[in-house]
Amino acid sequence: MAKVVGIEENYLILDQSAFYPQGGGQVGDTGKINEIRVLNTIKKDDTIYHEMEDISPFSVEMEVKGEINWERRYMIMRHHSASHIVEYFIIKNFPWVRPYSSGLVDEKKDRQDYLTEIPFKEEDLKIVEDQVNSFILEDHEIKTWTDENGIRHWVCEFIEMKCSGTHVKRTGEIGRIKIAKGKKPGRGRERIETWVI
Ligand SMILES: [Zn+2]
Repeated sequence: MAKVVGIEENYLILDQSAFYPQGGGQVGDTGKINEIRVLNTIKKDDTIYHEMEDISPFSVEMEVKGEINWERRYMIMRHHSASHIVEYFIIKNFPWVRPYSSGLVDEKKDRQDYLTEIPFKEEDLKIVEDQVNSFILEDHEIKTWTDENGIRHWVCEFIEMKCSGTHVKRTGEIGRIKIAKGKKPGRGRERIETWVI
């Protein structure tokens, strides 16, 4: 149970929340609070705002029960975990390439742009896809830790990346993935999209 501590427009602020707010390239959680749909979750100045389909049943001090759409969140966690492994193998195969900004992951796919003057070739991406799938099949443990500056790190075997998103506990949970080139995002950039299948 949580308590309503604030209402702003159609946003509900609670004294505690397990909803993941949009950030770090990951979409915000959806779900329900007291059976009313939560359309999105965002964060402003360390406060979590739940965007409600209908704010009228709520009042400050009210006790509420939140329920994350776990089916959707689990798909996001599988895609997000896959995105780190794809990024690792992209850079391993194409060492001149650098990730461009933090990408975007939702329940349907992961999207990451890379800075490169040389376009990815389909046959090279097939090699990356096979390497990622072999690694995933080995069912490695996934861990996160927080450093002294409060930065969270994602760790899996020899791969470590800064990330504050949500992930599965083992690569086996990801299942198989497919990667493909997305729409070209701009000059000197290439987009890679990853799906779990
Ligand atoms: Zn992550």
